[in-house]
Amino acid sequence: MKEVRKLGKRKRIALVAHDHKKVDMVEWVTFNKEVLSKHELFATGTTGKMIENALDRPVKKLLSGPLGGDQQIGSMITSGDIDIVIFFWDPMEAQAHDTDIKALLRICVVWNIPMACDRATADFMITSNFMHDEYEIILPDYEKYLKRTIV
Ligand code: PGA
Repeated sequence: MKEVRKLGKRKRIALVAHDHKKVDMVEWVTFNKEVLSKHELFATGTTGKMIENALDRPVKKLLSGPLGGDQQIGSMITSGDIDIVIFFWDPMEAQAHDTDIKALLRICVVWNIPMACDRATADFMITSNFMHDEYEIILPDYEKYLKRTIV
């Protein structure tokens, strides 16, 4: 039988936006304020401050992305403390913390985390019935990898 991780109705959502995508993020959270009010929000430092101001509600702020915030989110994903990631990354500009960004994108896929990297995908995600219901994430099977023979 497949192993699953159960997400409750109230999702723990991590929000991250690179500088040229922060306006997009603020517009998106403002437009979706009502739906988001039913969920718990986490964000990298600067993104979090902007979302708090826009929504007038507390957001659990981690460190700024380049100072380790992306890695904190990655760690929370591995410990099962984040359910969904909305990550508006900038495809047109190199980032100082490029390795951390790549690591975050990777760890989301490692644990089959719903992740939206642009507004259109985020729109589809937030209008999904799964946002309001419980959902079972099917965990990838890493047994073979864990039991591999090291020679
Ligand atoms: P910031 O970090 O929200 O602190 O700007 C975002 C990022 O670049 O990862």
